[in-house]
Amino acid sequence: MRITVITIFPEFFDSFRTTSIIKRAIEGHRVDFETVDFRSFTLDKHRHVDDTPYGGGQGMVLSCQPIIDALRSVRDERSHVVMMTPQGATFSQKKAARLATYEHLILLCGHYEGFDERIRAYVDEEISIGDYVLTGGEPAALVVCDALIRLLDGVILEDSHEDDSFSDGLLEYPQYTKPAVFEGKAVPEVLLSGHHANIRRWRLKESLRKTKQRRPDLLQHRVLSKEEEALLEE
Ligand code: SAM
Repeated sequence: MRITVITIFPEFFDSFRTTSIIKRAIEGHRVDFETVDFRSFTLDKHRHVDDTPYGGGQGMVLSCQPIIDALRSVRDERSHVVMMTPQGATFSQKKAARLATYEHLILLCGHYEGFDERIRAYVDEEISIGDYVLTGGEPAALVVCDALIRLLDGVILEDSHEDDSFSDGLLEYPQYTKPAVFEGKAVPEVLLSGHHANIRRWRLKESLRKTKQRRPDLLQHRVLSKEEEALLEE
């Protein structure tokens, strides 16, 4: 998969691309990650990429020309273009899984007061990472890239993301590592038992319990199996 982030702050992604799992994914050619600085496309003699809003008001609006020219320099028929904007549909694990299937994903990062409205006609979808306003699209693009790169084949162990929160519509069960007792707090007996069927059942029950307690909305959108219904009743 190829990911292109169109931004005026490419340096924002320096530590992202050189750290931990993402670094390994890039070095292992699981993902080709690049940034394109749309300031380098501006035809303005002062290298401006923004201008004052028509109709008046505070702040500066990103102009069409540099962004559309930058987009055209990397886009082809396999590209899927996403605008990062608080006005977009909320990002989710399901969206991450879908975005991970595109051959070439292009993410557009805004800044200042955001994009000239006409830029919206050039994108395939708009994504928000939540109901709050960031200074720029870079942290949002980083969140999207991180969530989808870890889903690409060979980036992390297959079954480690199958159990992740949201992957199966539930929050993940509690996890523990050594020691078996820390400051009087013991790991649940069943996890030390080596009994795989009991461990699977306990984990499913805990997943259901946590989800019901913290995110009951998730259960409303999920069809429960007979076993899950019974475990929820226990
Ligand atoms: N005036 C715009 C509005 O009210 O919709 C907000 C502009 S914001 C200060 C600047 C840029 O940050 C946006 O163009 C977008 O790229 C990015 N941004 C801010 N909040 C975001 C969010 N929740 N999700 C995704 N991108 C966001």
